[in-house]
Amino acid sequence: MRATLERIHRDALAALEAARSEAEVEQLRIRFLGRKGELTEAVRGLRDVPKSDRPAVGAFLNDVKDDVERRIDSALGALRAAARDRQIAGERVDVTLPGRHHIPGHLHLISQTLDEMVDIFVGLGFSVAQGPDIEDDYHNFTALNVPADHPARDMQDTLFVGEEFLLRTHTSPVQIRVMEQCKPPLRVIAPGACYRHDDDVTHSPMFHQVEGFMVDRHVTFGDLKGVLTLALRRIFGDDTPLRFRASFFPFTEPSAEVDIGCVMCGGRASGCRVCKGTGWLEILGSGMIDPNVFEAVGYDPEAFSGFAFGLAVERVAMLKHQISDIRLFFANDIRFLRQF
Ligand SMILES: [Zn+2]
Repeated sequence: MRATLERIHRDALAALEAARSEAEVEQLRIRFLGRKGELTEAVRGLRDVPKSDRPAVGAFLNDVKDDVERRIDSALGALRAAARDRQIAGERVDVTLPGRHHIPGHLHLISQTLDEMVDIFVGLGFSVAQGPDIEDDYHNFTALNVPADHPARDMQDTLFVGEEFLLRTHTSPVQIRVMEQCKPPLRVIAPGACYRHDDDVTHSPMFHQVEGFMVDRHVTFGDLKGVLTLALRRIFGDDTPLRFRASFFPFTEPSAEVDIGCVMCGGRASGCRVCKGTGWLEILGSGMIDPNVFEAVGYDPEAFSGFAFGLAVERVAMLKHQISDIRLFFANDIRFLRQF
């Protein structure tokens, strides 16, 4: 019996030595320790051992069983550790490699500029209104004191949509729409897209304006000057020189264009190419709302007065960031857009 056990023990150790996989080791566990395993059978064989020898043989059998069990467990442990090491080696990450650079998106410069302008006027108590991009002739022209045969229509190259409608040439029709629906006092800005048949380095067929107007019982040209001075200095800086210059628009009387000191040459007397030697750059059109416009919306021009202005957003962005070609805004060249 003892000799048999010693043989089984040697067989088990040799087989374990040769086992190369977890599955092979598991097979050995069945072969030696399973329900019909060689050592299990040996336990049954104890019956045939003479009673006096049984304790010693039994103890030896237990030692062999324990040893085989322990060796199977440690062989399994070693195989699993080796497998894990191989897996880790396969997934190794070189932490010294440079990372992938992610460039976060951001708002388009025109959106940024528009938001900034809207914030400034909202801070001055103006509320924001919007109107349709496709307008009728009445709101875009007639109600703004530009009748059908008026030469001022030639000032704006209109894009028509069929017989009745057109793409609004300015945001001023929103002024009419708000006044048709609301009673003064009003302080409103209307930011949005406008369209004209125009295309060169400073004009784009689609561009953005911020229209603004204020109507109350006693609005004066001084109010216009105060609001626009404050707003333009917020946009371009506190030291920006401004001048108000008499002009003409059909929907305002009197009318004024506003110039800022040239941002390129600092407004020096001899000027530069951008300001065409004048030291000044035109930035907006404005004026006191024409009595005919008030009549068109049913306001009494004797009782109310108001001012209106229109600022071109692309022009503001071009002057602030010294951009020489308006088409850069819409060419979607990521190298340009990323700079802002
Ligand atoms: Zn200049």
